[in-house]
Amino acid sequence: MSQPQMRRAIECGVPDNRQFLHPLLVKNYGNWKYHDRPRPGVLHHVGHSGDEVWTVRAGTQRQMDVYTIRKLCDIADRFAESHVRFTIRSNIEFMVSSFAKVAPLISELEASGFPVGGTGNSVSMIAHTQGWLHCDIPGTDASGVVKALMDDLYDEFRREEMPNRVHMSTSCCEINCGGQADIAIIVQHTKPPKINHDLVANVCERPAVVARCPVAAIRPAMVNGKPSLEIDEKKCMCCGACYPPCPPMQINDPEYSKLAIWVGGKNSNARAKPTFMKMVAAGLPNNPPRWPEVSEVVKRILHAYKTDARAWERMSDWIERIGWPRFFEQTELPFTKYLIDDWRGARANLNASTHIRF
Ligand code: SF4
Ligand code: SF4
Repeated sequence: MSQPQMRRAIECGVPDNRQFLHPLLVKNYGNWKYHDRPRPGVLHHVGHSGDEVWTVRAGTQRQMDVYTIRKLCDIADRFAESHVRFTIRSNIEFMVSSFAKVAPLISELEASGFPVGGTGNSVSMIAHTQGWLHCDIPGTDASGVVKALMDDLYDEFRREEMPNRVHMSTSCCEINCGGQADIAIIVQHTKPPKINHDLVANVCERPAVVARCPVAAIRPAMVNGKPSLEIDEKKCMCCGACYPPCPPMQINDPEYSKLAIWVGGKNSNARAKPTFMKMVAAGLPNNPPRWPEVSEVVKRILHAYKTDARAWERMSDWIERIGWPRFFEQTELPFTKYLIDDWRGARANLNASTHIRF
C-alpha cells in the first residue's frame, strides 16, 4: 500500500529577490565599502572588492499602463544593464557598472518624461494609497492628488535643496493604509454616514458593524419594520470605519468629504525618535483633477520649512524647535482649536474595550 504523500505548501511567500538583482549587487551583497551621491538622482556604491555601481533614480506616476512599463524596460535594455527595481515610493532605479553609461541614461529618461532625482534632501515621490483604481472605500483618488502635486513640485524632486529629506504621503480614507510622513494629505469626512435602511439587513452583519465603531455610536434598530442600524450623531467622529463592513452606511460625499493636511510624522529612528504627525489644515475641498487648494497649502508649508529650518532638521525637528505658534505664523495657515490634537486622551475617550472590539 502506498504511503500518503505530504501535501506541498502552495503559499511560499515572496520569491528570493537575489535572482532579480544586478549581478554586481549580488556579488557585493552586504559587503559595501562606502557610497556617495555624485549628483541628485544618482547613487554610487563602491564594494570592498573594488566593484562600482551607479544607480539612477527616476520618478514614475506609480499607476502605470503596460506601454509605460514596456518603455521603462526598453530604456533598461538599451541604456542600462537590463536590471531595474522599484523603491517604496514608486521611483524606478536603473543600475549600471560604468560611469560612462550614466549621462546617456539620464538624457533618455528625461527625454521620455521621467524626471531623475528623489535622492538625498529632495522632495521624493509621494507614497500613496490605492485610491479609486483598486480599493472599495476611498473618498478621493490618492494617486491623482500625487500626480497633481508632483507636477507642481517637479523641481524639488530634481534638486536636493531641502534642509533634510521630505517624505510625503496621501491616504484616501482616514482609517486604513497610509503612514507617518513629514507632510500627509488625508481624507477627512465631516458628516456622519447616511444609512440606506432598505439594504442594511441584506448586506451588513450588524454586530460586526456595531463592534467596529471606535466611539460606540452605532446601535441596532428596527426601521420601517426591518432590522437596521442607527447612529448617535453626537458621538460619531466621522471616521468612516463602519462603511467598509457595511456599504449602505455611505460616508463619502461630494460636498462633505474633504482633505486635511498633517505634518511632522517620522518613522525612522535616525537622529531623533519617531514622531506622530499632527493636523494643521482641515476642510480643504476634495477638488479633482488638480486639487489646487491642497497644492497651495503643501507648497506654503514646504516654502516655510525650506526657508527657516536648519541643515538636517526634519520637519518634526524644525517644528519642535520653533514651536507651533511660529509654525502657523510662518505658514500663514489659520489656527483653530481642532488642530494639532495629539489624542493623548484616546484611552479614556475611545472605545478600547476588548469585550466589544475585534
Ligand atoms: S487609504 Fe483607505 S481608501 Fe485608500 S486604499 Fe487604503 S484602505 Fe482603501
Ligand atoms: S463614522 Fe466612525 S464614529 Fe461614526 S458611526 Fe461610523 S464608525 Fe462610528
